[in-house]
Formats: sequence, C-alpha cells, structure tokens
Amino acid sequence: MEKSPNEKLAIPRQELPEDEEPPSKQPSFIDEASLLDEYLKSRTDRDKSLISERSLAFMQEFFPEATLKDWNNWHWQIKNSARSIQQLSRYISLSDSEIKPDGNNHSLPLRITPYYISLLDRTNADQPLRKSVVPVFDEFIIHPGENADPLSEEHDSPVENIVHRYPDRVLFLVTGFCSTYCRYCTRTRMVATDKCHVGVKAWEAGINYIQNHKEIRDVLISGGDPLTMPDLHLEYLLSRLRSIQHVEIIRIGTKVPVVMPQRITRPLVNMLKKYHPLYLSIHFTHADEMTVEVKEACEKLANAGIPLGSQTVLLKGINNSVKVMKNLMHALLRARVKPYYIYQCDPVLGSGHFRTTIKEGLDIMEGLRGHTSGYAVPTYVVDAPGGGGKIPLLPDYNLGHAENGYVKLRNFENREFLYPDIS
Ligand code: SF4
Repeated sequence: MEKSPNEKLAIPRQELPEDEEPPSKQPSFIDEASLLDEYLKSRTDRDKSLISERSLAFMQEFFPEATLKDWNNWHWQIKNSARSIQQLSRYISLSDSEIKPDGNNHSLPLRITPYYISLLDRTNADQPLRKSVVPVFDEFIIHPGENADPLSEEHDSPVENIVHRYPDRVLFLVTGFCSTYCRYCTRTRMVATDKCHVGVKAWEAGINYIQNHKEIRDVLISGGDPLTMPDLHLEYLLSRLRSIQHVEIIRIGTKVPVVMPQRITRPLVNMLKKYHPLYLSIHFTHADEMTVEVKEACEKLANAGIPLGSQTVLLKGINNSVKVMKNLMHALLRARVKPYYIYQCDPVLGSGHFRTTIKEGLDIMEGLRGHTSGYAVPTYVVDAPGGGGKIPLLPDYNLGHAENGYVKLRNFENREFLYPDIS
C-alpha cells in the first residue's frame, strides 16, 4: 500500500480531554486496578492528536511565539491566516504570475490557513496544492461561457440562501465564509463578500421554507464552509432542521477537515453525532492533502458514525491524470472516506486555466473503473450550466445491439462480449 509522504510522519500532541467516564463495572476475574490503569493509558493515547514534522517545523520557523496549543486551536488558525499576497510572501517565494493578482477585481480574496500554507511548496509554483489556493494572473482572463453564477443558483432560489432545484432536496447556503478560499470556487459570487455574513437570523426564511415544503427529505448545508461557524450556531441550525419531521437526512458540505483539521474537535464531533442521520461531503483535491492531521480528523468523524464522502473538482495541472486521481481515491479509502463525486470544473469567471476537456474526465473514469476497487470509483458529473443539475458521464461500455437480441458490451480491458438482452 503506497502512502503519501504526508501520511507517514507525525508527532503526538495533547488535546482536550474527552467527557467520557471510565467503565463502571468490571468483570470480577480481572484485576480492577490494572484494568483502570490500562483504561487510563488507552484514554491518554486516544486523546493525543498529531502534528506532522513538516507543520511543526513551519510553525517553529514562522510563529516562534506560538505553542502547539495555539497551532491546534482553529480560532488561532483563522486569525493567523494569510489574507494578502504580501502576507503570503513571508512564507513562500512567489512567482511573477502569483505576485500580479494583488488588487483583485471579480475574483476571490485570498485566505489560507497557516496549516495549509505549511503544506505548500516554498519555491515550486506548479505544486498542485499551491495552484489550488494561490491566486495567479490568469484569474483576470474571462473566457467565453464563463459566468459569475454558472449554475444559475440564484434563479432557483425561492427564498434567500435556499436553492431548490431537485424535487426532494435543497441546498442551504448558511455562510459565505471559508477558512481557505479555493481559486476555482463555484460560489465566488457569494463567498467572502457582503453576502457572506448570512447569520442566524437570516436562516429563518430558509428554515421556514423547508418546514413548509413536506417534499424536502434531504437538506445539504453548504456555503461557504459551514464548519467555520461556532459549534453553538451549527447546533442551533442542526437542531432546528432535525425538529422538522419530513427532513430525513442532513448533509454538510465542507473543506474544513482538509484545510483546517484542527476544527474537528471532540466537542464538535460529540455535538454532530446527536443529529444523525448526518452525512459529510468533504472537498479533497489531491492525495498530498491527506496528512496525518487530516486522517485523524476523518477518523474522529467516522468513529462518530458520520458517513464520509468526498467531492473533488477536476483541475488542469492539479489532478487531471489517472495516476493522481487513483492515488487520491486510495488515500480517501484508507481514511474511511468514500469517493463520491468528481466534478467537471464549473465555468465560473476567470477559471479557464483550471478547466479540462470532458474527454480528460472520461479518460480518468476509464482508468479507474475495473482497474481498482469499485469503492474507489466516484461518479463523474458535469453540473449543467444554467441550472440543469448534475449530469453523470461514463465512458461508453455499451457498443449497441448485435444480432438476435444480443447487446455488444466492452469491459475495462476493451474486450468485447455479447450479452443476451432477452427477457
Ligand atoms: S471551500 Fe468550497 S465554498 Fe469555500 S472557497 Fe473552496 S470551493 Fe468555495
């Protein structure tokens, strides 16, 4: 099993104790003192979290005053995020193309957590992770077909912050804030703008809408990134949604476990698990994001019974090859995250340098299906511009009708077979 370098090395750190009690009754044939000892030891081990050597070295170099406790505090991570090219240039040496974007126009502001900066290559501007979060001059170039709201979400919004496109489910945009902004974000129009301060009061219309539409059985909470909200706000929202009888499942779309794994604290996880069935769709881009910290964050969530799925945007020069995608899918499964979607990159303004052809996406699917575990194969979709919804795309394995009611199919090795399609 080939592990990404970031999965390998880790240094233990101390975390807040869990609010669990030791088992009260022990079987009489076991020495209680040694059992308690063993329990306390296992509890201490369980409460230890990890910091990679790489992140530790970064912290010591650039934040010499900070303690591990600071680094592992998600508020500290947000407070110390890089928010300008000048700030970012303290940590990495920027290329000409990366320096030019300062003074954005339509594009997203910059924000990257110290944790995620610690994963960036200091000199190589072509490093995949770096390309996904550091603005470049190409963002100023608008290509035909690009749009500020490529999926026409505002058109399908019956009340503020709700997108109701599919019959039985809604998208609930509860914040416009993210701890790190992805340069290809579909919701550039709303994240990090005035619209980002959605706030608890502004949810009321959305909650009432869901309450009044009995056909809604599935609510996807997204934004922005919902896990950047305080536990109290998140719990308020989850409890309101959970109290609606016809809401069967709640999903949260987030990139926080990847860009700020410090946010996945035990109190957060203990709160989330009260609202089952709750699913998490985690936005991953590349296997290099699967660090020991991220793996640990996924493990905490999975151990709380939260099914984890991944969403990955297909991006030129970042993950548009079978090898890179396969590595990512394998890393996800090792972290108990089921690969869910690969998205064709939406034609949002200034995203031309990220987009691949659909053929490239299909070639990647061809290189996955049959060549690795079925669990490692997500669905490749194009979100139809103009609000048509997700359209799944697959390489063509059905070669059409043959004689006598047979159908000609091909397998992953391109071998042809006749199937009797006769009932
Ligand atoms: S985390 Fe999601 S919402 Fe935030 S910038 Fe990235 S793609 Fe956009």
